[in-house]
This record gives sequence, C-alpha cells and structure tokens, in this order.
Amino acid sequence: MNRSFRSLAVSFAAVALGLSACGPADKAMAGPVDDAALRNVETHPDEWLTHGRDYAETRFSPLTQIDENNVSQLGLVYSYATGTDRGLEATPLVHDGIIYTTLPWSVVQAIDARSGKLIWEWDPGVDRARGQLACCDVVNRGVALFEGKVYVGTLDGRLVALDAATGSPLWDVITVDQSKSYTITGAPRVVAGKVIIGNGGAEYGVRGYVSAYDANTGEMVWRFYTVPGDPSQPFESRALAAAVDTWTGEWWKYGGGGTVWDAIAFDPELGLLYIGTGNGSPWNREIRSPGGGDNLFLSSIVALEVETGEMRWYYQTTPGDSWDFTATQHIMLADLPIRGETRQVLMQAPKNGYFYVLDRATGELLSATAYTTMNWSVGIEPESGRPIEAPNARYLEQREVVQPGAYGGHNWHPMSFNPATGLVYIPMQEASMVYAQPANAFSYREGAWNTGTNMGAGAGVQRAAPTGYLLAWDPVRGEARWSVPYGDIYNGGTLSTAGNLVFQGTSDGRMVAYRATDGKLLWEAYVGGGVMAAPITYELDGVQYLTVMAGWGGSYGLSGRGRVATPGRMLVFAIGGSAVLESETVKREAPAVIASNASPATIQAGATLFTQSCAVCHGQNAESSGVIPDLRYATPETIARIQNIVLGGERSSLGMPSFANALTEEQLASIRAYLLSRRAELYP
Ligand code: CA
Repeated sequence: MNRSFRSLAVSFAAVALGLSACGPADKAMAGPVDDAALRNVETHPDEWLTHGRDYAETRFSPLTQIDENNVSQLGLVYSYATGTDRGLEATPLVHDGIIYTTLPWSVVQAIDARSGKLIWEWDPGVDRARGQLACCDVVNRGVALFEGKVYVGTLDGRLVALDAATGSPLWDVITVDQSKSYTITGAPRVVAGKVIIGNGGAEYGVRGYVSAYDANTGEMVWRFYTVPGDPSQPFESRALAAAVDTWTGEWWKYGGGGTVWDAIAFDPELGLLYIGTGNGSPWNREIRSPGGGDNLFLSSIVALEVETGEMRWYYQTTPGDSWDFTATQHIMLADLPIRGETRQVLMQAPKNGYFYVLDRATGELLSATAYTTMNWSVGIEPESGRPIEAPNARYLEQREVVQPGAYGGHNWHPMSFNPATGLVYIPMQEASMVYAQPANAFSYREGAWNTGTNMGAGAGVQRAAPTGYLLAWDPVRGEARWSVPYGDIYNGGTLSTAGNLVFQGTSDGRMVAYRATDGKLLWEAYVGGGVMAAPITYELDGVQYLTVMAGWGGSYGLSGRGRVATPGRMLVFAIGGSAVLESETVKREAPAVIASNASPATIQAGATLFTQSCAVCHGQNAESSGVIPDLRYATPETIARIQNIVLGGERSSLGMPSFANALTEEQLASIRAYLLSRRAELYP
C-alpha cells in the first residue's frame, strides 16, 4: 500500500519537475507520513501533515519566503472550483505535492498542488436527509494522513480509510448508533498508530464520546464516554462512576451531551491525548439535571492516556452548562515561561469567554482570563478555579441577554500560536444571546433540536450587533497585545508564520495578512464570499504557497447572516501570483407576487413554527445568506409543491428532508402563510 502510494506520488512530482527548469530533488522525495514524521514535523518544514500542522496544533509554519517585507506582492496562482455551494471548513493537508481536502457531505479530494487538477475524489454517499441532523451545516474540517492512507469521518458517523494513491476505501467502520442524531464534521488525528475520532449532535440529544481505531485494520482500540449513561447499567470507566454523582434526574434519556466534535491535541512525550467536550444535551441544566450539579464531563478539557483511553485529569470550564458553552474549541500545546519557570502548558479559548492556561501534565490551572466581553461570570474563584456566575446568568426568572452566547467568544475557527512573538491569534467575537426557559413543558423530539430553552426569546430585544476581531493574545500575561475589528463574526481560522505574519480569511470576503508583532495590515485580497476555514502554507519546488478553502456557511451562514454565498473554491496564493478571480455571485430574481388571505394569527403561528423547525437552515426571519435557498424567493412552482416537499420529502435527495413526523398539514399551511407574508414585504 505504502509502496504504491509512494511511486504514484513521485511520478506526479517528476512530471511537474520535468516542466519546470529545476527544483530541489529532496522536495519531491519527502519521507513517508509515518509515526516519526508526525512526532517531528520539523523534519517536514515544507509540508502540512496533520490538522494543526503539528501534534501541539500550533498552526505555526517555520517557512520564511513570504515575509513582512514582500507579502504585499502576494497574488493568486490559481483557484480550484470545488463544485459545491455549502460551507467549507477544511484544513487541507499537503504531502509529496498533493493536497488532500474535504468538501461538504464529507467528500474527499486529492488535488495536484502544482497544477490544481483533481487526482481523485471519493464520495461516501451520505444520505442527504442526514443533513437535517447537522446543527451547523454539512461541513467537514479535514482528513488525517498516515502510511499511505487518508482518513475521514463522515457526516453519517463512519470512519473511513482510503488508499492515498487512488482514493479507494480500504476499510469503513460505523462509529455511532446511526439511529440517533450523531454526525461527524471534525478531522481525525492519527497518534501512536491509532485514528482518533469524535462526533457531534448535542443540540439534538446524544451522548458524547471519543474513540481510537487501529490505523491499519480499523478495529476499535478504546472508547471514552464523556458523560455517564443510564446509571442502572455498568459504567464504562472509573471516571464515569465518579462523575455520576454530579448529575440528577434522567439525563441519559436525552443523551446528556458532551460531544467531542473538534479539538484534539497530543503530547507524545507524556503519552497524553487532549480533547475538548461540548455542551449539555439539552442545553438547559434545569431540564437536563433538574437537581443541579456540575454534570461532569461537559464543557471540559480532558487528558486521556493514549494507549488505553483512561482519563488522567480533567478541568471543567463551565460547570453545569446552560448556555451551549462548549469547550470543544481548539486546544494548543506550548512551553511557556510562567512565573519564572518554563511550564508545559495547554491553552484554550472556549466559548465561555475565558482564556485558559493549564499545566498539561497535571491539569493544574495556571491562569484564566476573560479574552472577550462577558456578563455571565464575574471572575474565577482562586482556590477552586471555578467561574463565579453572575446572579441572573441561568435565566431562571425571565429572559436574559447573556454574553457570550451560543456563538461563543470564540468558536471552532482555529487559533494559532507563534513562538517568536509568544502570541496566540484568536478569531475572537463579541456576541450575546437571549436565553429563556421554554414556553411549554419540555418534550424530547428525536431528530429535532432539543435545547430545552425558548429559542425565539430574542424577538424584540434590542442589543448590540455581533462583532468579530482578530485578537493577538499574550498567554503569559493574560492580556491582549493588539486586535483588529471586523464588521461581523465567524471570521476564519488563523495561521502564523516565521515570516512575522498572521493570515486570516474574513466573513466579509477577504484574505488578509498582518504583521504578527503589531497587527499592521500588510496585504488583503478580495475573494468574494466569506471565508471560515484556516489557511495553510507549504513549499513546493522552491516556492512558498498560501492556500485556503473559501465557502460560506456553517451555523452562522445558515442562519442568514454574513456575506452572500459564492461557489466553493480552494484559493492558492504565492509571491507574484497574477491569476484573476472570476467574480460569481448568487443571482436572485424578483419573486412573483402570490396572494394570500391568511389571518395575522395564522401568520404569527407560522412564524413561531418557522423559528422552531426551519430557521436553523433557512435563516432567522426567513432571510438566508444564500447557503440554503432563501424561501422568500421560492418560485411559484416550488410554493405550489410545498406539501410534497416538506411533508412528502420529494427533495430529500437534495438535502431537504421530510418533516412529516414534525409538522401537520395545518402547521405547514401557517408556515406557508408566513413565508408569503415575508415575500410580500420584499415590495415595500
Ligand atoms: Ca453546541
């Protein structure tokens, strides 16, 4: 397997080298992606072999050809059309002149990095109806490479190993109970010969865990559940036997949550794997665990022994979470000077707004400092390391504006750590959310959002518009060094380099570069649609490239916010690049008037149902950014078939599932009336 991959990769390289006058031979003979290479990515400075570039997930590149003096000459070399129109969140990997990336619906592509031509594509054939279970778009954040194989987690919960040379599946295992609302959007990591994969679904009602599979055979080696299951059954680990005392009620019937949907880091010397766990399921602790409790290990950073999956230590960032304050955000490892000592640390900026520095060997809290505006907590108790909650943060008496909200002070968009500046570059955001207890008694609905809160509570509440920043954070002093404001949140992940640069895509459709030391804007390029993914950099035939997946979507894009979506692309830049980006925008025809004589009460009922059942994908107030069709602009033919589509499922193969189990004909009629009223408002 390994041999055939090598020979094909080398032959591609040889063809390209034959066309260019010269090229360092060692670049085409990059060693295999084996355990030694992944532990020591310094031996592959010109490549990008694992999700965060190294096991410490620093997203720092030592390359210096592009630097603060010449970055203004950066130009497009080529743009690669992905042929997709949903969110792109992948960090591509680059090895031996081949770019491995993922698209919506967990499709994997191998692209010749020199020519920008597709080598192979593998589509896992995910049932498009599964898209209804993806809280935050049908995205995928990338693959792992190891010994001639490419690993991907699929939206329907499989882990698949592909032949890196051909894209043919070598093994394909189901990692979840597919009858439940599990999804996988995160990138696997290969550590110590094992593929590590988590999953998502805590908005719907699942129990979180992370699993390790043998990289060669696909056999499961261990699994760590993050929350206890039914206490009448044996606990899967000692950690859970202790954690059960922090829960009350019948949480297991709703899953409990704590999904491991993004952050994974690894310290090979300590043999510890670090994961971040997600929010409670349902969100609201009053329903999930009505007698209170910390609900371990929700919203926690957890250290596991890589060989066994046994827990070594944990730190819970948000005890008794009631706000969707996941701690799944990017985890990074570094050695930092703390109070006169070099400490092996772990860093995270989870949704709750505190930047944490922990000793990664022991879990000792070294510092926790607010990195964004917050009102849910007023500080950290020094002895216990617990956040001190503001009096009304749990919205028990009335609806409350809480900051950060479910979008978080920082979401999944990766940070980066530059050892030369000592700074962490965070796609930070200031955004609140209005939380309230549910209007009616909670009843669990399989396959639907089950937050146990009133999701429409924000109607009519005046509050500040969400604002995003690039924040350069000093993790030693616990303070901001510099920041750049943006017009909106959901800006892309960051990359920092030894060229004293920080790169980022923005939600307003730009790629930008700043001087890493002081935040001076040195380069920007307009790329059309909003960019969420983090860029990467690599060197090929003596040229340093900057590459990013550009495609708007995700939870924020689906909710109707942000720039109008453009077709998905992979953009490749280098010094002196002169290619021109074709501008493509989604055209909208003026909608034909459709008369409706529905009563205001029916329209209001339709608005409420729309918020509950449709807005997650088609946008709040039926305003879509174009990622998913804006229903106000639906053709008369579509509106005439609304019952066949919504209840009959006739467009399920296109990603619009049947809602026959969730909506009655009468309810759909009121949603239709609401849509027609919103449509009529387009003619003021
Ligand atoms: Ca969540």
